[in-house]
Order: sequence, then C-alpha cells, then structure tokens
Amino acid sequence: MRLVLLGPPGAGKGTLAALLKESLKLVHISTGDMFREEIRNKTQLGCGAKLYIDKGELVPDEIVIQMIEQQLTNNSAVGHGGYMLDGFPRTCKQAEDLDRILERIQQPLDYALYMTATLPIIVQRLGGRRVCRKCGALFHIRNKPPLKENVCDNCGGEIYKRADDNEATIHTRMNVYVNNTQPVKDYYKNQGKLKELDGDKESDEVQAILMKMFRDK
Ligand code: AMP
Repeated sequence: MRLVLLGPPGAGKGTLAALLKESLKLVHISTGDMFREEIRNKTQLGCGAKLYIDKGELVPDEIVIQMIEQQLTNNSAVGHGGYMLDGFPRTCKQAEDLDRILERIQQPLDYALYMTATLPIIVQRLGGRRVCRKCGALFHIRNKPPLKENVCDNCGGEIYKRADDNEATIHTRMNVYVNNTQPVKDYYKNQGKLKELDGDKESDEVQAILMKMFRDK
C-alpha cells in the first residue's frame, strides 16, 4: 500500500506513521526527517534547507522534489511492502510532480490520509513535543513523558525539543500550512483518494478507526 499523510503540523502525522509502520509494515518516508538528517550531517542540502526550516517556511519545491524522487527511485525497500510519505507533498506543485514520478515508476498512490486537528490542540502538542535524536520516537512533556528524563524509552537515545517547535515558528508553520498545503487536500479529494481522520482524538482511538478503515476498504 502506498499512502501520503496530510494535515497541519501537530495533527499527529508522526504518531499515525508509527501506527501504520507497526500494523501495516509500511516504510516511513518523512521529508522533515530527511532534512534534519542532512542538517545533522552538515551537507550542502542541509545547510540550504536549514535557512527555511528555522523560520518555519517551506523549502523550495525543486529541492524537495529532487530529494523525494531519489528516495522513491533508489531505495529498494520502497518498492516492496509499500510506504507512506509524511510531510510530502506540501504544495499542489509537489503533488502533481509526485503523480508524474509515480506514474513513471508505475506505483500509483492508494490513499491520502488527512488528519484534522484544532488549533489549541496543535499548539499544546507542538509546544510540549519532544523527539528522540536517535530513533525519532515521539514524546510529550505532559501527555507522554519518557520514563527517565531526556532519555528515550525505546533506544536510550537523547530526547530533544525541535528548534522549530517554538511559539513564533509554530504560527508561521500554521500560516504556511493554510496557504500552501490545505489545497493539496482537494487535489486528492478530486482523485477520490482522500480519507479523513480526527487528529484531536487519542492515538488508540485513531488506531481503531484506522484499522476499521483499511478492513472495510
Ligand atoms: P516536518 O518534520 O514535516 O514538520 O518538517 C519540518 C520542516 O521541514 C518544515 O517546516 C519545512 O520547513 C521543511 N519541509 C519538510 N517537508 C517539506 C516539503 N514537502 N516541502 C517543503 N518544505 C518541507
């Protein structure tokens, strides 16, 4: 199965991705994670992307599309059991280019899963979000704190707060989302591929809905 995960920052796409990885064994391809890896490795791509990411703005389409095209065409794991794209596409241009790439490699998308969430929930989630530097596991200082402070329960890695999870950047990211990414939802709706999930719900409720959705499809 090939999916894209859509929704505002903090709607729960990362949590949804973890559920799908566990239950459907899909490969998780996150453009945000790919950029953070490039930044950690201080590559040219990473240094260029950082300028946009730190401000909460979108990295230009050409850069993102090239990166995702390489991933989809060169990663052998991607062709087998299926995958989910998390954080991509974020503009209609990216969605159109993705369709062109997938047509060429004969791997059409099955669904776009759209997580909705209300602004107060988003701000609360992103403000308290913590991420494991090593395995990417997600925590929250109040809702899901790690057993040991700053240490990942899964792998013992260091837990950190993303630089772009601060209040000013969260607002920019929300504006960017409304102006650029919201229309992508209609793009997939018009293709009959859109499925909506309520991201305000707790993750076990989302998981139950998700399982039912794929059972009934
Ligand atoms: P995320 O981890 O998905 O929240 O992404 C973090 C940041 O990476 C975003 O705020 C953007 O600056 C950048 N980014 C990730 N994916 C994309 C994309 N598809 N298009 C443009 N910028 C992106």
